[in-house]
Amino acid sequence: MSCVAAGPWGQICAGNPRNKARGCDGYGCGYYTAPRKDGRRKHLGVDVICRDGSTVYAPFSGMIERRINPHGGRNFINKGVKLRGSGFCVHMFYIRPVTYRGRIKKGQKIGEMLPMQRVYPGITSHVHVQNCNHFNVTRYLKICFTFVYSISFQVAAGPWGQICAGNPRNKIRGCDRLGCGYYKARRGNRLHLGVDVICRDGSTVYAPFSGVIGGRVNPYKAGKNAINNGILLRGSGFCIHMFYIKPVRYSGRINKGQKIGVMLPMQRVYPGITSHVHVQNCDRSNPTGNL
Ligand SMILES: [Zn+2]
Ligand SMILES: [Zn+2]
Repeated sequence: MSCVAAGPWGQICAGNPRNKARGCDGYGCGYYTAPRKDGRRKHLGVDVICRDGSTVYAPFSGMIERRINPHGGRNFINKGVKLRGSGFCVHMFYIRPVTYRGRIKKGQKIGEMLPMQRVYPGITSHVHVQNCNHFNVTRYLKICFTFVYSISFQVAAGPWGQICAGNPRNKIRGCDRLGCGYYKARRGNRLHLGVDVICRDGSTVYAPFSGVIGGRVNPYKAGKNAINNGILLRGSGFCIHMFYIKPVRYSGRINKGQKIGVMLPMQRVYPGITSHVHVQNCDRSNPTGNL
C-alpha cells in the first residue's frame, strides 16, 4: 500500500481512518482520472472506501450549500452535497446527508453512506469526492492506495507478458453471473485470491515470465471435470499458479512469451462464464500489479 503525503482533510468515513481509496474492482478503479467503462469519460474524483450505512464526516469546516446528484436518473445512491469552506469546494456523492444547507465543522457527521451494493453488487463501496472545479483532490486526503497509480482495471502495465492469445493487454474478467474476476471478489463466503485473465476456450496460453514449471497444480481438490488442470510456475522473482490450462508439460524451463499451454473448455463446465486463466500468487498476495 502506498500513501500520498498527509493532507489537510480529516477522516471521511467511519471505519476508514486513513481515507484509504478504492483500488480496482469489477466496475473500475477509484483513483483520479481512472478510465470509465464507456471509454469517453474519466473519473474526476477520488473514491474513499466506505461500507454501506457507515457514518460520513465533513473533511473540513464549511458550509453545505446544496444537494447535488451524481446521476441523471433515480436509484438508491443518487444523492450528494456540495460543501465549501476552509479554501475548498467539493462534491461528496452517494451519501444521505444530515442536511442540505448550513454550517458544519470538520469531523462532524455530514451523512450516511447509501446502499451502494444494491446498485453495484460486489463494488468496493465508497464516497466519491470531487473538487467543484474537477481538479485532483488526492493531495488533500492523505490517501492510501492499495494499488499503485499506473494500474487500472483494463490496461496492462506490469512486468508480466501477455498471458492469453487474443488478449494482448491481459484484460481481467469483469463480472458475470458466476462472479467477478478481480482479486478478492466474493465467492460465496470465500474470497477470490487470484485474478482472472480473459481467455477464450482453446486459445494459446503463454508464460508471463521466464522461469521453471514446478509441477501440476489442480484448481479443484476433489472431482474430475474438463478444466481441472494447471501448473506452478516459478522464476524471475515470481511464483504463481495458473489454472484451467492444459500445459505443454509439467516441468522444465520456459521463457517469457513461450507457449505454456492451451485454455481448457471452460464453457462446458460453466456455460456463459467469461472464460479465463486464473492466475494466483503462491503466497496469495495480489498479482494485479504484475499484469
Ligand atoms: Zn467515484
Ligand atoms: Zn479465478
